[in-house]
Order: sequence, then C-alpha cells, then structure tokens
Amino acid sequence: AGTAITLLNAPALFCAAFPPRAFAAHKGTFGSLAVVGGDTGMCGAPILAARAALHAGAGKVHVAFVGAGSPPYDPPHPELMLHPLDSGHAFALEEMDALALGSGMGRRAIAAEILLKAVELDVPKLLDADALNLLADDEKLGAALAARGAAGHVCVLTPHPLEAARLIGVNAAAVQRDRLAAARTLTSRFGAVVVLKGAGTVVAAPDGRTAVNPTGNAALATGGTGDALGGIIGALLAQRLPAYEAALAGVYLHGLAADTLVAGGAGPAGLTASELAPAVRASLNRL
Ligand code: AMP
Ligand code: MG
Repeated sequence: AGTAITLLNAPALFCAAFPPRAFAAHKGTFGSLAVVGGDTGMCGAPILAARAALHAGAGKVHVAFVGAGSPPYDPPHPELMLHPLDSGHAFALEEMDALALGSGMGRRAIAAEILLKAVELDVPKLLDADALNLLADDEKLGAALAARGAAGHVCVLTPHPLEAARLIGVNAAAVQRDRLAAARTLTSRFGAVVVLKGAGTVVAAPDGRTAVNPTGNAALATGGTGDALGGIIGALLAQRLPAYEAALAGVYLHGLAADTLVAGGAGPAGLTASELAPAVRASLNRL
C-alpha cells in the first residue's frame, strides 16, 4: 500500500514551496479562487470555506451558490464576492486560478452539471463533500476526472472516511482498518491527490508520495472544519502551489491552527470552524 512518511519536515517543505511575498506583489499574484457549492439551505458551508481561503492568503475569493436564497454578501467579510448561479447569473469558472467544489453543494442535477463542466476545465481544483458524493454516484464524472488526472491535471480530493467508503464501495470501518490502502486506492482510481481526513490525515499523490499529517486534534470533530480545510487548500492552489504541496501544507496548517487554539483554551470542547480561519492566518505567517 505504499510507504508512509510522517510529516516532520512540513515547515521546511512548505517554505520551499511558498516563497515570501514580493515587495511589488499585487492581488493577482495570489490568485482568484471560487468556492462552488451552497444549495438552498446550505449557504454556510461554502462561506466557511471562502473565509478560510481569505485568511490563507488567496488574492480574491468568490463563492458561487447553486441554490436559491443565497445571501447578497457576507457581512463580516464583504471582501468575498458572492454569485447566485440559480438566477442565471453568469460567472466564468474558467477565469479562476483555482476551484474548490462541493461544500453544501447538494446532489441535484444542476450541481452535477456544474461539477462535470468544472472537471473539464484546465483550472487546479479540489473536490470535497457533495462533489465527492456526486462523484461516487456518477461513472461519467469519475471517468472524466480519471482522464484529466491521466493527462496530468491533478486535482485534490478531500474525503472523510464515509465519503472515501462511498467512493470505493465499502463501509467506513473498512476504510479505517487500512487508511493508507484506502487513500492509495482512490489516488490510483482518479489520478488525484487524495486527502483522507480524520485523526492522522493521509495525503497521497499519484506518483507514490504519501504522508501522514502530525498536527490536529479531536477539537476538529465539529461541523464545518472540513469546509475550512477545503478553502485553505483551495487558497494554496490559487497561489500556485502544486496539488500535493497544497494538500500537505493545507492539512498541516489546519491542524496546527487547531492545536494552537486548543493550547489557548478554545477547545477541545466547543471549538468552532469559524475560529480556524484567523488561527490559520497566524500559523501561516509564523512559519
Ligand atoms: P469533515 O468531516 O469534512 O467536516 O472534516 C473534518 C475535519 O476535521 C478534517 O480535516 C479532519 O481531519 C478533522 N478532524 C476530525 N476529527 C479529528 C480528530 N479526531 N483528530 C484530528 N483531526 C480531526
Ligand atoms: Mg465535510
């Protein structure tokens, strides 16, 4: 099932992949990310992802909602640009530097349609949550993703154990019995970088590189933390980190933020996903 390395050199690896900000940098330097999701009644998930992306340094962050009733703007973060796709609002996904798809996206036909279109684009992307559930249900989408992976357009998949189990066609207990094997199975099937979440998050790349993340703790076992992770990795993709480096650095920073918050008394009970974003920013700037 491949050899796992424990990620003790993560800060060094991260700094090598992520140079300091240039004096003359501008927002375009740090890329545009669109978070795509938010079916009716599930607007919070992509907003959590987008706020985390802002705090992880993306130049510009958009949210495209597939459902009705999305908010016109995010009051605490008016720097986010929100787009209601259901009202025929034109939004050019192909103009983005990265896409994070799936948070609260639902599984309606419109979501499947947007996802298939996004998979075909030459834009670095991450699939999470309902994007993974749609992938598990749709062979055509799986074939399209695998074809893109084989052509070298490596995307990032971030399943939790149950999402991984649906994709593989086993139950979550089987995934948990051999997490490395499960991650590598998905990496081979889709030609994607796979982040198998949960304690001891596994990151596996199609070229065989595999790591187990040492940061993070059970304070993260609460709603919305996975959405925040998707936003962080999306922001790193927008900043032009390659898929494996973005996934590793994102997982590491997300866990480090949770560790710092718990050390400061914000957990293990009662940590909120919203608190991760500013803590990720602090961790990122300290590295
Ligand atoms: P999701 O299940 O999509 O909401 O994602 C949950 C996030 O929290 C993932 O990044 C998990 O790796 C992380 N997480 C959940 N439980 C734990 C735990 N017990 N230890 C470390 N990380 C965890
Ligand atoms: Mg999730």
